[in-house]
Amino acid sequence: MRKDEGAATTSAELRAHNLARLLRAVHDGGGQLTRAQLTRQLSLARGTATVLVRDLAGRQLIEELSSPADAPAGLKVPRTRGRPTGVPSAHPNGPVALAVDLRDDSFTLAAFELTGRGTVLDRQERGAVSGTGMLADVAARLKTRRREFGDRVVGIGVAVPSPLSAGQMVQPTLPDWQDLDVAEILGGADEGYPGLVLAGNDATLAGLAEARRGVLRGVPVALHLHVATGIGGVLLAGGLPVTGAHGSAGEFGHMPLTGGSEPCRCGSVGCWELDAGARGLLRAVGQPEEGDRMVRAEQVIAAAATDPGCGQALTRAAEALGRGIGALVNAQDPEAVGLSGLAAEVYEAAPDAVKSGYLATLMRFRRTGPPALLSSTLGDLGALTGASELVFDAFLTPRGLGAWPAPEQKTA
Ligand SMILES: [Zn+2]
Repeated sequence: MRKDEGAATTSAELRAHNLARLLRAVHDGGGQLTRAQLTRQLSLARGTATVLVRDLAGRQLIEELSSPADAPAGLKVPRTRGRPTGVPSAHPNGPVALAVDLRDDSFTLAAFELTGRGTVLDRQERGAVSGTGMLADVAARLKTRRREFGDRVVGIGVAVPSPLSAGQMVQPTLPDWQDLDVAEILGGADEGYPGLVLAGNDATLAGLAEARRGVLRGVPVALHLHVATGIGGVLLAGGLPVTGAHGSAGEFGHMPLTGGSEPCRCGSVGCWELDAGARGLLRAVGQPEEGDRMVRAEQVIAAAATDPGCGQALTRAAEALGRGIGALVNAQDPEAVGLSGLAAEVYEAAPDAVKSGYLATLMRFRRTGPPALLSSTLGDLGALTGASELVFDAFLTPRGLGAWPAPEQKTA
């Protein structure tokens, strides 16, 4: 995903390469690192770092503050001793990534600045509008926000609730989204910003966000599981998602990890999500799997302490969740497993049942030090944060920075 990191050959290229590296380090550090810390981290000469910081500040990409702004959620950076130096931070006119969390029943739009701080701008329920109608609504909101932020917008990231293959929603929950290319629809020539929109699967992006700014930060090989109506996730190596040949890896919910044999809506049989997640919870209490599954699944969890039927359903779904995690750990050998969405809620509500399922399926040699199960710290902002990271991955390169207008050329 990170492009343009190859060797630089001329001094102009070397400078562009170092500017991108420094800005990337400011981004990754969440605007919490001093110039001295960044200089050491990137093994730059002090004079070089000074020139680079001045250049980035002159282009309104950063602003040097005397102390760090509040850290974004989930980000903790150790303080070091010694004489304080300036802290390269987000510039008030600096780059902005717009991010959309598209769900089958609603969408949320947020703006993220360079250092990862996000602000939710719009949230809209779908109501009686069709899926394509909601996409038209998203496009209209994006247009408004683009006008508002002007040239500061360096891209738009969209988290979608469907496996993506070559950019298309191949098995969406809403039939009218079948085979749609969201990036093309929202960034097509009509909208005037082709190439600026990047789409990713919501569970993959939730995992990417945890690896960059949440519980999986700094974990060399991590597995993340995001449970909404289905179960998705991603394997992350060195903070980069392993998304497969066509971008559709991580459909863990559609593996027969709990030994069933019933047909699944996906076309496979015995899928894990029939026993775990929202579908597992609803099936265990005998409720239909249609409609507002997430809301009703959360009601089952909330009632588990007082209603014995809900309590049993939670225990069953929690054990099924654990068994699947154990099987995936056997296959992938991660250092830690992140949990978000309903997976985190089930784990918080029934940790012992999840752990007993987990230990039961782990191979014996793994049981002495099983990878930790870690609940998300980003919560609902996970997919949005991941979508913004897609945008910054493309922007924080020599080519991306080359397109950033000089202050006198800006329209906003
Ligand atoms: Zn399935």
